[in-house]
Amino acid sequence: MTIPEMASGSNFIRTIISDDLASGRRKTVVTRFPPEPNGYLHIGHAKSICLNFGLAQEFSGRCHLRFDDTNPSKEETEYVEAIKEDVQWLGFDWGQHLYYASDTFDQLYLWAIELIKQGKAYVDSQSAEEMRVNRGTLTEPGVASPYRDRSVEENLELFERMKQGEFPDGSHVLRAKIDMASPNINLRDPAMYRILHAHHHRSADNWCIYPMYDYAHGQGDSIEGVTHSICTLEFEDHRPLYDWFIRELNIFAPQQIEFARLNLSYTVMSKRKLLQLVKENHVSGWDDPRMPTLVGMRRRGYPPAAIRTFCERIGVGRSASWIDISVLEDCVREQLNDTAPRRQVVLDPLKVVISNYPTDRSEELEAASHPQNPQAGTRLLPFCSEIYIERADFMEDPPKKFFRLGPGREVRLRNAYIIRCDKVIRDEQGDVIELHCSADLDTLGKNPADGRKVKGIIHWVSARHAKPVAIRQYDRLFQLENPDKADNFLDALNPESFRVTEGLAEPGLLNEEIGATFQFERVGYFTIDSKDSLPGQPVFNRTVTLRDTWEKIKE
Ligand code: ATP
Ligand code: MG
Repeated sequence: MTIPEMASGSNFIRTIISDDLASGRRKTVVTRFPPEPNGYLHIGHAKSICLNFGLAQEFSGRCHLRFDDTNPSKEETEYVEAIKEDVQWLGFDWGQHLYYASDTFDQLYLWAIELIKQGKAYVDSQSAEEMRVNRGTLTEPGVASPYRDRSVEENLELFERMKQGEFPDGSHVLRAKIDMASPNINLRDPAMYRILHAHHHRSADNWCIYPMYDYAHGQGDSIEGVTHSICTLEFEDHRPLYDWFIRELNIFAPQQIEFARLNLSYTVMSKRKLLQLVKENHVSGWDDPRMPTLVGMRRRGYPPAAIRTFCERIGVGRSASWIDISVLEDCVREQLNDTAPRRQVVLDPLKVVISNYPTDRSEELEAASHPQNPQAGTRLLPFCSEIYIERADFMEDPPKKFFRLGPGREVRLRNAYIIRCDKVIRDEQGDVIELHCSADLDTLGKNPADGRKVKGIIHWVSARHAKPVAIRQYDRLFQLENPDKADNFLDALNPESFRVTEGLAEPGLLNEEIGATFQFERVGYFTIDSKDSLPGQPVFNRTVTLRDTWEKIKE
C-alpha cells in the first residue's frame, strides 16, 4: 500500500486559491461542506470538513455548512443534529452560515421556469425505461425524446401541473435541453426535477416535485456566494453541467474543484455498508468505537486534533489513493502521548509479596501524571506489602535482553522502589502464582547509593488498594486491507475486534470523568466509555495501543 502525498501534506487547492486571490480573480474565499443528512459522518467526511473549513480559516474567508436535503425520502432530522455536533467536535464553526438546499426550493423553481421560457428546459413524458434507453451509451449518442420540442407554453403548463400534484410519481420529468449527442452523458438533457409525492423533513408537504442534485447543488453554491466548490473526483464529469446551469441562468459563478476521496485500509466508508453493519448488529451502533464514524472515533477516545493532523498529513491530491489506517493511529498516538495523563493498570496480574515491607503498613507515593508536563500535576499511589505486576514482566529463565524481573534480578517499580526477586512460588501444577521480593527502601526517587545499575522499569498496583475495572480491547473492525475484496465485505470482519477483560487499576481511576483518556503505562491508551460507564464504575475503551502491533499479531 502506498501513501503518496503523505510526507508532503501537499494541497493543490491551496495553490489555486492563493493564485485566485493574488490575481484578483477572487476577493474573498467562501467554501462549504455539503453533507446529505442520510447517515453519520465518517473519517472521509472529516477530510472534506478539514479541507473546506481549513482553507476558509487559512485565507480569512468563511465556510458554510449546507445540508444537501434535496432527496425527501432518505433524510432524517436525527442525522442533521448529529452532523452539526460532529463538525463542532472536530473544531469548526460555521457561524451564521447554516443552510439547507431545501431553503432554495422557491428560487430553484423560478429559475426552472426561466430556463423553460428560454427554450432551455422541457417536460419529458417518457417512461424511466425509455429515457434510460434513449440516453445512449459511451459509444452511441442518445436519441431525442419525442417530447423534446414541446412549446414553451405547453412546458410551462405541464410543469405547473407537475407542481400542483396532478401527476403520479415518475410520469413526467423536467429536463435541461442541452445536447443528446454530447460525448459527456451528463449533458444529454439531464433531469432537473422529478415528481415525488413525499414528505420532506423541512418543507413538509409543500412540494411534490424535487430538484435533482445536479440542478440544486451549483445553484445553491451560487446563491451562497461560494467561490470554491470543492468536491470529490466522481463529480469531474458533472462540472460541464454545473457550469452550464450557472452560465444559462447568468448568476454568480463559483468554481468547482475536484479532489481524490479518502480511502482508508481496514475500513469501509460507504454509508450503505455502515448502515448495514448497524442494522444487522455487527456493531453496537453508529457510535460503536470500532466504526469509522466520527461518533465512533469520539467514543473510542480519538482526539479531534489527531484527526485534523491526519487530514493535513495525508494531503489533498487528484489521483485516487489508499491511506494505511496506521497513519491515522499514529496521529492518535502522537497526540495522546502529549496530552494523556499516565496511570497504572495491570491487565494480567501476578502477585508480588514485598517480604521486607511491614504487612500492617501502607503509604502514598507521589507520582507525576505526565513525564514531560509538570502542569499535569501529580497523584498519590498507594503502596503496601502486596502488589500486582504484569505476568509478562516476569520470566523464570529470561533471555539476555529481558530487563524485567527474573529470579535474583532487580527491577524498578514505576514511581516506587527497586525490588529484587528472591523466591518463586508455584501451585501444584508448577505454574508461578506468586513472587517474594525484597524492596530497597532507599531507592524512592533515587538510584541505589552503591551505584548498582537497574535497567528495567515495570508498572504495578497495590493489591490491597487496586480496583477491578472493565476493559474493552478494541481492534480493527476488518482483518482485510480492503474489505471490499472479499466476496461479501462482512466476511472480512475481524472476529477479534472486540474483547472484554478485567484490569486492576490504581484507585483514583474510579473517579475520573466520562470521556477522559489516559495512558495506562506500558499498556496503551484508554478512554472512559461515555455510554456504559456508571459513577465509580468506569468502562475503559482501548483507544490505541502504544505501538503498532498489528502485523505481528496477524502474520
Ligand atoms: P452519498 O452521496 O452516497 O450519500 P457521500 O459520502 O458522498 O455519500 P455526502 O453526505 O454527500 O456523502 O458527503 C458530503 C461531503 O463529503 C461531499 O462533499 C463529499 O464529497 C465528501 N466526502 C464523502 N466521502 C468522502 C471521502 N471518502 N473522502 C473525502 N470526502 C468525502
Ligand atoms: Mg454525496
